[in-house]
Amino acid sequence: PFDVLIIGGGPAGASAAVYAARKGVRTGIVVERFGGQVMDTDGIENFISVKETDGPKLSAALEAHVRQYDVDVISSQRAQELFPAAQPGGLHGVALESGAILHARTVIIATGAHWRHLGVPGEEEYRNRGVAYCPHCDGPFYKGKRVAVAGGGNSGVEAAIDLAGIVAHVTLLQRGSHLKADKVLQDKLYSMPNVTVLTEALTTRIEGNGKNVTGLTYRGGDGADHHLDLEGVFVQIGLLPNTGWLKGTVKLSDFGEIVVNDHGATSIPGIFAAGDATTTPYKQIVIAIGDGAKAALSAFDYLIRVPAA
Ligand code: FAD
Repeated sequence: PFDVLIIGGGPAGASAAVYAARKGVRTGIVVERFGGQVMDTDGIENFISVKETDGPKLSAALEAHVRQYDVDVISSQRAQELFPAAQPGGLHGVALESGAILHARTVIIATGAHWRHLGVPGEEEYRNRGVAYCPHCDGPFYKGKRVAVAGGGNSGVEAAIDLAGIVAHVTLLQRGSHLKADKVLQDKLYSMPNVTVLTEALTTRIEGNGKNVTGLTYRGGDGADHHLDLEGVFVQIGLLPNTGWLKGTVKLSDFGEIVVNDHGATSIPGIFAAGDATTTPYKQIVIAIGDGAKAALSAFDYLIRVPAA
């Protein structure tokens, strides 16, 4: 059995693997693909101390760093079910889709999250070429340009407020008849001079010139199609944690995030979690990496304190 078994090879999982391996404990990592969401990213300018990189480069660097240590990499595999130990110090089981079951004294869950997509024509085609999901990440790329935000909940309105300070103009499209964001956020949004709010506006198509986004079409409350010229569309209709396989085991929040304490511990002794899959606020690479380190150190602390059962 492993001392530490990590599920997920994104920034959080890779960081946990390096930290665990450096303690000399038997470490394994189940990796669907190294890099996680980072593989879907183009330019990255906020990985502190690296002025500029891109998704494939950073993913390759994460993998190389993990492979520098004595880590058992179980690749191209997904975890399907978690079987928590019957008592503290006991062995947890993780069933893989292949049918194999791995055992470990501690498990670190780092399965990340994914953005809910609009599912309209043009969205996939222009991803990272005008279609964006993360205002903290990509906002500055649209300085002085016109953008839309799809989604009128808290994250959509926060994104619109954030972007309005950077870009020339923001159009917020909400498919329902009113915004769902907190009132203070709505008040702030409506006070901004370069923001237009459209309700009953259903985005139906993202258009481009083959290279970049040039506009979008939405169906209005009048039932007619309307066109907007713009350079960017931020989709803000939900970040979904990849935690469906954990149902009935560790405690999840109402949003399906793994509830962790300030040590990265879940509701089950010996099971830790890190990164976008958890309740840790602000889903970012540097935060996921810090979280992975924290969870690995907590797992090590558990290993030296809790006798094997
Ligand atoms: P993830 O990166 O989501 O990795 C989790 C991994 O686990 C994935 O590979 C997933 O497939 C895998 N997995 C899921 N379920 C299972 C399972 N059952 N078994 C095994 N493996 C599983 N952040 C920044 O800081 N700067 C940026 O510029 C930036 N740009 C972004 C651009 C885009 C388009 C996107 C989508 C995100 C961006 N982010 C950016 C956010 C950043 O990528 C995430 O915060 C970060 O990757 C989270 O790391 P993680 O390890 O927690 O999860």
